[in-house]
Order: sequence, then C-alpha cells, then structure tokens
Amino acid sequence: MNSGMVTAAYIVAAILFILSLAGLSNQETARRGNWFGIAGMTIAILATVLSGTVTNYGLLIVMVAVGGCIGAFLAARVQMTEMPELVAILHSFVGLAAVLVGFASYFDPNMHLEGAAKSIHNVEIYLGILIGAVTFTGSVIAFGKLNGKVGSKPLMLANRHLLNAAIGVFCIILLFVFLSVGKGAGTAILIIMTILAGAFGIHMVMAIGGADMPVVVSMLNSYSGWAAAATGFMLSNDLLIIVGALVGSSGAILSYIMCRAMNRQFLSVIMGGFGAAPVAAADGEEVEQGEPNPILPDEVAQLLMDSEEVVIVPGYGMAVAHAQHPVSELTKTLIDKGVKVQFAIHPVAGRMPGHMNVLLAEANVPYDLVLEMDEINDDLPQVDVVIVIGANDIVNPSALDNPASPIAGMPVLEVWNAKTVIVSKRGMATGYAGVENPLFFKDNTRMLFGDAKDSVEAIRSALK
Ligand code: NDP
Repeated sequence: MNSGMVTAAYIVAAILFILSLAGLSNQETARRGNWFGIAGMTIAILATVLSGTVTNYGLLIVMVAVGGCIGAFLAARVQMTEMPELVAILHSFVGLAAVLVGFASYFDPNMHLEGAAKSIHNVEIYLGILIGAVTFTGSVIAFGKLNGKVGSKPLMLANRHLLNAAIGVFCIILLFVFLSVGKGAGTAILIIMTILAGAFGIHMVMAIGGADMPVVVSMLNSYSGWAAAATGFMLSNDLLIIVGALVGSSGAILSYIMCRAMNRQFLSVIMGGFGAAPVAAADGEEVEQGEPNPILPDEVAQLLMDSEEVVIVPGYGMAVAHAQHPVSELTKTLIDKGVKVQFAIHPVAGRMPGHMNVLLAEANVPYDLVLEMDEINDDLPQVDVVIVIGANDIVNPSALDNPASPIAGMPVLEVWNAKTVIVSKRGMATGYAGVENPLFFKDNTRMLFGDAKDSVEAIRSALK
C-alpha cells in the first residue's frame, strides 16, 4: 500500500471512529455505533499492517493470533458484572504498551535525529512513558479495587499531597536533565521516572475512596487515550494520535459527567478520601436504626396490583443476580394489567457508566420507559410503589441529610418520597461505598429479602 492509500484509509477509519462515538451516545443507535467502531478498527489494522512499516509478518501473525485468542477467550468468559474489571485491566495494557513503545523508541538504532527534532522526540518519549506508567499501575489498582482484591477504603498516607507534588516536581526536573544527557544517563533517568510514575499511579488510585471509583474508571479511560496519543507521536502514526485524542477527550468528558453526577470537583477526586469507611455518629455512639420491616413476594404482588404508578430502580445487585430478564417480564405483566411502569437510572448505578442501561437494553426493556435520575426525582412523590432491585448507595438518604456521611452531597434517587418502597436484596449488607443505609429502616420501606432474580420471579408467579 502506498502512503497516499494509507493516509486515505486512516482518514476513513478516523471518520468511522467519530461516527462510532456519536452512535454510542444513544441506546437506540449504540449497536450501529459499535459496528462503525469495528469497521474503523479493521480498516486501521489492515492499513497499518500493509503500510510497509511492518517487515516481519511471521512474528506479527503469531503475536496477533496469541493476543487475539487470549482476548477472545477472556471476553467470552467474562460475566457482565466483571466488565468494569475487564475494562480497567485493558486500560492497564494501553499504559504498559505506551511504556514499552517509549523505551523501544529510545533504543531504536534507526532513529538518527539531531537538534530540535531530537529534543522533541525525547520529550514525546518521556511524556509517553510517564503517562503510560501512571495509567498502567493506576489501572491495575483500579482492577483490584473493582474486583474486591484491594479494599475500597482510601489509603490516607500522612503528607500524601506533598508526596504527590514532590513526585510531580521531581519528574519535571528529571525531564530537563534527560534532555541534556547522553544515552546511558538518559536510560537511567527514564527508568527512575518510570518507577516514580508507577508509584504515583498506585498511590493516586489507592487514595481514592469507594464512592469515587466511577470517576476514577473514566479518568483512567481518559489517561489510556492520552497514553495512546503519546504512542502515536512516538511512532509518527497520525491515526493513533487521532484515536488517542478521541478516547482521551471522551474519557475526560465522561469524568466530568460522573463528577457532576456525584456532586464532586475533579480535583477533590484526585485528592482522594471520599467514601471512606462508615463513620460513627459525631459523639462516637452508633446510631440506633431500628428494625427492618420485611415483606413477602405475594404481598408485593398485591401492592403492585393496587398501584397505578410503579418505578423500578435497578442497581448492582440486579446485575449480580442476572435479574434483568425477569424484571423485563415483570414490567410487561404489570403494563398488561394497566399499571404504569418506569425505570429510574442513577448515573453511577452498577459498576460502570451506563451499566444499567446496557442490562435493560439486553432484556428488551423499551427505551422510553427508562428515565435518568434528574428526569424522575421530582415525580417520585406521586409514585405508589418504588421497587429497588439490588441498589443501595444510589438510594441512600444520608447522602442528602447527614453531613457526616462519607457520601454526603452525592445526588441520589429520592425513592423514600414515594408512597411505598420495596427493597429487594439478600440481607442488610452495605453497598460499594460501605455506608449504612437509613432507607431500609424508614416507615414506608419494606424489605424483600432474597436473591433479586428469585424474588422478582416469585412476584411474577404471584401476579399470575
Ligand atoms: P451498591 O454496590 O451500592 O449496592 C448493591 C447492593 O446489591 C448490595 O447492597 C447488595 O446487598 C445487593 N446485592 C448483591 N447481590 C445481590 C443479589 N444477588 N440479589 C439481590 N441483591 C443483591 O450498588 P448501587 O448500584 O446502588 O451503587 C453503585 C455503587 O458502585 C456506588 O457506590 C458507585 O459509586 C460505585 N461504583 C460505580 C461505578 C460506575 O461506573 N457505575 C464504578 C465503580 C463503583 P446484599 O449483599 O445484602 O444482597
């Protein structure tokens, strides 16, 4: 393929990626958006492989086959509830790739740049490795926090801000030294900076409390984009720069949306600490919550039959229980019986952005029944029954009325304003942020204990 054809293919691929992002912004066009992305990536890979920069096809085929098989095997086995962890670990690969490409570019014997061009290339290498190392270690810790291998409690080292600032300043000083020394000393500086950046990534994500994890996941998504863009500069690959910038900026926009959803400043997220372990009452005493009021599926069915308006709030537990299909069937049954049913989606419900929307779309719940938190919160006082299915943090009233709560200030679905609230969960366990939930003890709340799928199926049988 000559360079003109490669450029043309890259432009087509870039347009397809932009169309893909546009498609993914809406549930109805998301499937089409995915296809645009797949087509763009296929064109990008083919154009790169045939561009003449690849010389060892044998090695390439073996590596693509091995990597592709591992990826396909893992993706086929992954549960929907494990998707956020998969995404986090994939971000770490982008970071690691940027680090490796950076070192490979630095040692490239065919690179004979001089003067300003050499300095610019070295800055690209330095920044690529720096962003890559932060992304790599940060994503590995995020992976651990999401699958529970690393506790969600924030690590609060003494003088941690000072430590982070010192690492940042030291890396900037090292950059100037790096630009003025030869290969040997330059290699040592790159290694020291990689270790420092890696430590910074670990420390940054370790300091982030459970409640801020949604922002961190999207922030690492953004970092992985910038790491890819930096790799594009190192390799002089325009498409990688474009794609990296698209991922980087869309991840940054998503982080902003997540921050808004949680009423948090981006900078305070980075500072860490939000959503720490449950705190005791101000005077050190535990607050007496009272006893939860249980309900059986038959009684729930009766309540639903007597209702005109029902709202369903899905959360992480619905994903764990794979309850989306029974929930969809229950919705159909109720609508057939003349009950108005709507879904209320909190922006950080589940474990990844759009998690609940994906599950409901998979179960063929009509899109027009699915409303965002801001669209439905004011209407909840008119609702007869709200059914909370495996959600906890996103319906926690202490976020609004207890300034001492670790999640104080986070907007939540104000389900307690409805006439009756049914909470389907297995026991009295806390949610991801590890915060007690006073909703479960309110007068108008009834607890439907058991696995969400079994409970919803039991309600459906009772309705029949
Ligand atoms: P939560 O994690 O707050 O609560 C989920 C609840 O589901 C638990 O209390 C659990 O209680 C219940 N549950 C678990 N398994 C089942 C089951 N089989 N059947 C019924 N119930 C079950 O989830 P939410 O969706 O309310 O909130 C999301 C949380 O995750 C927020 O804190 C958010 O910040 C965080 N987060 C979100 C991310 C995102 O991008 N959306 C990313 C990372 C974190 P029990 O064990 O008693 O059944």
